[in-house]
This record gives sequence, C-alpha cells and structure tokens, in this order.
Amino acid sequence: MAYLSLKNINKIYPNGFHAVHNFNLDMEKGEFIVFVGPSGCGKSTTLRMIAGLEDISNGEFLIDGKRANEMGPRERGVAMVFQSYALYPQMTVYDNIAFGLELQGADEDYIDEKVRNTARILGLTDYLDRLPRALSGGQRQRVAIGRALIRKVGIFLMDEPLSNLDAKQRVTMRSEITTIHRDTGATTIYVTHDQTEAMTMADRIVVMKDGYVQQVGTPRELYFDPVNVFVAGFIGEPPMNFVRSKLENGTIRYGEEVLDLKEMLGKNAAKYEGKEIVFGFRPESIVLGEQKNAFVIPADVELTEMLGDNTNVYIKVGDVSSILKVDPHDTPAVDSRINFSIPFENVYLFDGETEEVIK
Ligand code: ATP
Repeated sequence: MAYLSLKNINKIYPNGFHAVHNFNLDMEKGEFIVFVGPSGCGKSTTLRMIAGLEDISNGEFLIDGKRANEMGPRERGVAMVFQSYALYPQMTVYDNIAFGLELQGADEDYIDEKVRNTARILGLTDYLDRLPRALSGGQRQRVAIGRALIRKVGIFLMDEPLSNLDAKQRVTMRSEITTIHRDTGATTIYVTHDQTEAMTMADRIVVMKDGYVQQVGTPRELYFDPVNVFVAGFIGEPPMNFVRSKLENGTIRYGEEVLDLKEMLGKNAAKYEGKEIVFGFRPESIVLGEQKNAFVIPADVELTEMLGDNTNVYIKVGDVSSILKVDPHDTPAVDSRINFSIPFENVYLFDGETEEVIK
C-alpha cells in the first residue's frame, strides 16, 4: 500500500478558479518527489493541500491508508519549509531550531539533545549561538530546515526552499538536502520551477502545467521518454529543438531540408499523412559532420556560447532556428556552414495537434 495517496484531487478557489485538476499520485514511504512546472501551474496549491493549509475541493487524500482530508496539519505529521525562511531575528540559531519543541512543552534535556543532533546533521553546530543576521543565506536556509526537521514527522514538504540563494549556494544546498533526506528517511515533497533541481534531487518527478499533471516518472524516464511536447521541452537545458511541419508523402521539411520519416513512422505514416508533426531532437544528441543512420543537415552558424564543458551553437537551417550542444574543442566558427547529423534513434516525433508523442 502507498504511504501517501492523492486520488482525483481538485482545487477550486472561492473565486471559482480551478487551480488543480484530477491530481493522482501514490508515494512510497521515504520517497523524494519533486513537483515541477512553470509559475502558476498549481504546484504550491497541491503542496498546501497535502500540508492541510488549503482545503481539498474534491478528491481524497490518504496517509497510510487513512483519509486525511479533514485532518489538521499537526495530525498529518507534516513539517514544511517555505521559500521565505522567516527566522526569528532576535533569537539565536539554537533558539530558532528549538522553538517548535518549546511550544510543545518538551523538556529541556530532550530539546537540547534534539537541537544538537539536528544541528549536527545540518552542519550548524558551530553556529548555534549566532543570530540569523550573522549567517549566510545558505546557513539561514539550513536553520529553517532544522526548525522543520526537529519534530519527528513522516512527511517533509518544501516549497521552493532555495529560490533566495545564489547559484553556487543552490548547488551546495541541493546535495545537502539530498543527504538530509537520506539521513532522515522522511517522505519528502519538494516544489520547484527549476528542472535542474528536479532532475538532480528527485526519485520521481511530477511535471505540471496549467493545473494538470503532464507526466510522473524518474528523471531518466522524463528525459528519455517524454510523453508530450511540453515535458520534452521542459526537461533538458538547452531545451529540445522542435521543428513543426506537415507530413507530405511521408516527409517533412526542416528549413529547406526534406526529411523522410516513412520508416520511422511505420504504420503511423498513413495516419499522419497531411497532418502536422513535431520533430524533436535534443541539442546534445547530435554529431557534428556526417554519420550513417542519421539525418544529415546543413546549417549556418549564427552564434556560439562557450560554457566551459560544452558550447551552445545557435544555428539556422533555412529559416528555422535550433541549438546544438557540442564539445568546446569542436566549436565551429560563427558565420560558417556546417553539417550535423541527428541519429535516427535520437529523434522524437509528436502529434502536431495533441502534442503527444507518437508511439
Ligand atoms: P509559483 O511557482 O508561481 O508559486 P505554482 O505552480 O506554485 O506557481 P500556485 O501558487 O499553486 O502555482 O497557483 C496556481 C494557480 O492558482 C495560479 O494561477 C494562482 O494565481 C491561483 N491561485 C493561487 N491562490 C489562489 C487563491 N487564494 N485564490 C484564487 N486563485 C489562486
């Protein structure tokens, strides 16, 4: 049996706005789940319904098989960390972490042991006497996590906890949160709009758009087997290249190039004849030059961006813009004309109307 179960969950706000539609998900104990999607897609709303901070309009939420819709946040055994970590500025790190237990009236020795243990897990032992203003952003965020972690809870919820940190701190905290999760074993749901955070931290990712779940899967499944154009374009940086074209005699156009998709489409070739197809390939899954079992495409190089471990090459194929990701040693000259190959096995085809992947 799943530990947490969301069954056909909907959220309709009092103003009539339908923010979450038929959300279904089963989570195992100890899983690290990430909700990801663009701003306004309903991630926070769903998290707040799980936390008990927002009513569930309809559908059922079960914890360990028991209906939890009507339970208060404490009864659910959840702890939550928000984007703004709002520490008490006049209290030391120690007191900030201890606060929740003190409110509950726990005894001094117990609190002391818990605070020190939590601080140890979070690497805050040396900072217990400091005030929040004497800490870096990353350290403050760790205190906020400590404050949530100190109570023994089964469910740990985090809403964009890293968004106030700079890029470097975010990378460090990402791996710290993963470690904390491993150490505590709490079932964790983490909300972010950042696909890199989702890919690096999650056991499974839930991709949302406009209040609907698009796909649930491991990072690997989402990267290699996206179910639609949205997921394919959302996961991966730079995003997947898409070429929209009508299928004519089993071929499509990429700029002036004619690509024969008959074999690739197989039995679907007849079904899609005369209809729009979306042809997709990832910037990193090409080969410069000509290769067998691939579409070989001539392109004009417009711009290159050297990023150190790779170079993004902005190209035009006729009037279609695309991006290639290449080894920096192979960076082509701006304004040059190149050939690149898209191996057949790296091609994704989507239905132009439904935007769903063509199987
Ligand atoms: P972000 O990353 O920007 O926080 P999100 O995916 O977490 O976005 P939500 O905060 O869940 O999105 O909001 C989903 C939708 O519900 C948005 O369109 C938002 O404007 C709307 N919404 C949120 N709270 C309310 C409310 N109290 N009343 C009406 N609509 C709301």
